[in-house]
Amino acid sequence: MLEQLNFAPCGYLIINHDGEIHAMNQTLKRMVGMDERTTPPEHIHALLTKPSLLYYQTYFLPLLDVTGSVNEIYLTLKRNEERIPVLMSAVEREVDGENRIECAIMAMGVRDAYEAELLQEKRNALRTLKETDEANLKLQKLLREVEDTKDELELLNDQLQRLVLTDGLTGISNRRHFDETLDSFIEEYQRASTIFSLLILDIDFFKKINDCFGHQTGDMVLQELSLKLQNATMEKGFVARIGGEEFAVLLKNVDEKEAYEWGECLRRMIEESAWMHTPVTVSIGVAEIRERDTYSTILKRADDALYRSKQLGRNRVSRSIV
Ligand code: GH3
Ligand code: MG
Ligand code: MG
Repeated sequence: MLEQLNFAPCGYLIINHDGEIHAMNQTLKRMVGMDERTTPPEHIHALLTKPSLLYYQTYFLPLLDVTGSVNEIYLTLKRNEERIPVLMSAVEREVDGENRIECAIMAMGVRDAYEAELLQEKRNALRTLKETDEANLKLQKLLREVEDTKDELELLNDQLQRLVLTDGLTGISNRRHFDETLDSFIEEYQRASTIFSLLILDIDFFKKINDCFGHQTGDMVLQELSLKLQNATMEKGFVARIGGEEFAVLLKNVDEKEAYEWGECLRRMIEESAWMHTPVTVSIGVAEIRERDTYSTILKRADDALYRSKQLGRNRVSRSIV
């Protein structure tokens, strides 16, 4: 064999149509793990793995018969226990009256490694995808929990807000709620000239009720009066308990004259309605919002009017404008 062919950078093999080996270069011998001085095997069968041998017989030889050449078919050679992937091209030609098949064989180690790397990358990508999916599921679960907690917090906040603004004994609005509402009414009056009136009600001789029937009955009277006031004003007025036995009613778009009439109605309703333990009367002071009024000034006018009702004998309504 020519020196150049012997050490060419690819394997070189000459066989006949029966697969008998005529020549094999050093490169191919090294590829299949043979010593350079060893005589090549007799038959190509000794070089090929079983699947490649099958492929060689059923595809390579028939194709060679038809076209006279074969380009880059994929085979695996045996090297002890290893398998060597190669690409083999072959031409068939006549030499000295005999058919010869000359084969060039390229090792595919790099491609093999590349394929293994690709496979590994694919596995990594699949694992990352699975991990991402799992992380997404966890995140969605966490988000749902956060949403639920947020809803619960909002609900609790609402309940807390209601508690903060509600009188514990009677269940109607408390002093804090009254203060905030009066401030907002004054603000609306200054901004949009929406008038309103304030009524302050105080139970007459309440101390006597406590003294005669006991504090607990006094409490029930306060609850009963709250309910009556709430029912009487319905959605037209804002009712609050602003002190021990003192209540306030705010009426929007109602002037002092009309508020006085409201007061009279309430006073009469309280005096005439049936009570569980003892009849009750109230004294009432009425004041309408005025220019430059503040929280304290309108409250003082209504209080002064209430004082006048007490002074004049109780169970009556007084206006701040005499
Ligand atoms: P007046 O007609 O002048 O208003 O007389 P009054 O007795 O109603 O007024 P006074 O201010 O002398 O007494 C109010 C009483 O209300 C004193 C207090 O013990 C009682 N009181 C205040 N808060 C409560 C409460 O929550 N429950 C009960 N049962 N009594 C209360
Ligand atoms: Mg009082
Ligand atoms: Mg009183």
